[in-house]
This record gives sequence, C-alpha cells and structure tokens, in this order.
Amino acid sequence: MSNSEARQRARGDVVLFSRRMQQEHLTYWTGGNISRRVEGEPHLFAVTPTNTPYDTLEPDDVCIATIDGEVVDGRKAPTSEFPLHTLMYRRRPEVGGIVHTHSIGAMTMAVLGWTLPPILTGWVEATGGAVVTARYSRPGTEEMADFTAEALADRGACFLRHHGLLAIGADLHHAYQAASVTEGAAQVYLQARAFGPVPELPEEEVRWIADDWRAQWKIAAEASQS
Ligand SMILES: [Zn+2]
Repeated sequence: MSNSEARQRARGDVVLFSRRMQQEHLTYWTGGNISRRVEGEPHLFAVTPTNTPYDTLEPDDVCIATIDGEVVDGRKAPTSEFPLHTLMYRRRPEVGGIVHTHSIGAMTMAVLGWTLPPILTGWVEATGGAVVTARYSRPGTEEMADFTAEALADRGACFLRHHGLLAIGADLHHAYQAASVTEGAAQVYLQARAFGPVPELPEEEVRWIADDWRAQWKIAAEASQS
C-alpha cells in the first residue's frame, strides 16, 4: 500500500467510526472526536475536523497531522481537542486509535466523578478493568492530556471530569470497542445501583479476562516488527 493509499484508508476509517459514534448515540451534535494513526507512517494520524456534523463528514474533511501537531493535509481545521490526540500519540507509541465521546452514561459518571467497577465480563475484556474519572481540566489543554495519562495507565478508557469519555486502543477498532462497551456498562451500573449495592466480578476473574484486553497490544507490537 502506498503512503497516499494509507492516508486515504485512515481518513475513511475515521469517517466510518464517526458515523458509528453518531448511530450509537455516543455523542450529541458535533461533540466528541476520533483519530487513528496512518499505517506505515506512525508519525502521522487522521483526525476529525472541528465543528462538522458527523452525517455530513467526508474523507477529505478529515485532517492528516503529525504527532507534533502540524496539519499536513485537510480542508478544515482539526478538532478543538487536538492536543489530547497529539500528546497521547507522542507519549504512547503503542496507541493506534483514540475515541472521545459525550455519551449519557459516561457523562453521568464523569459529572459524579465515580469509578465504574468491574461488573461485566465483556466490558472488562474491552477496557482491562475498572474505569476511573480523571481529575478536572479545561477542554483542549495539555493538562487534560496529563490527567488522562494517569487514568489510562493500564486501561482502555477513562471518564473526563464534567465532560465525557476518552478511549484508546492499539488500533481504532479496539479504541471504539472500549468507548462503546463502556457506555453500555455505565448505563447498567447506574440502573443497578437503584436496587442496592452492585456485585463485582472476583479479582481473579478480572485479571484472567483482562488478558484478552492486553493481547491487542502484543499483536500490534508483533505486527509492527514483522
Ligand atoms: Zn469533548
């Protein structure tokens, strides 16, 4: 695959997953953003533009930028939360995709500043375990990237205080899985609390299931070496 084909493919994936984010009601209006690295050029990534309704998004609207923050191609400016993406890709070379959503369950957890405990097997497989709320920071600042780095040390997702959710993965598929499945788990947790204390999975089970989540990073590392 040539570099220009790889860039177009990355743009196409950003459009595809943006549409999914809208269809699954993981955001409202133009909120949230999505990015993925360009195959063969890991210093580049494709990212959603600012202020563009997702149902009108076309591949050429998607920006191609360097992980240092320089836009190299695109007819629109990148998302206002651009530093969240550049800093994450710079700090975590193993991260290949990022999904940021404003979904109801995640926003509720983020407003309350709660931790989502390990309650469902499919969700532990998608995130690696309990998901915490990162300390409050202003949207679009480097501080937000600092605070989320702590919360994402060994997890596929975290809540952003008074804001929404941030998910990462070895590729966009895994990042989106973490964002989508966390939303379902957050809604289940909030409903289950109405009936009393919510039972958690035993620690041993969480560790065992989380191995499936960790496998994505090993597979990606092996693929990049071959
Ligand atoms: Zn946001």
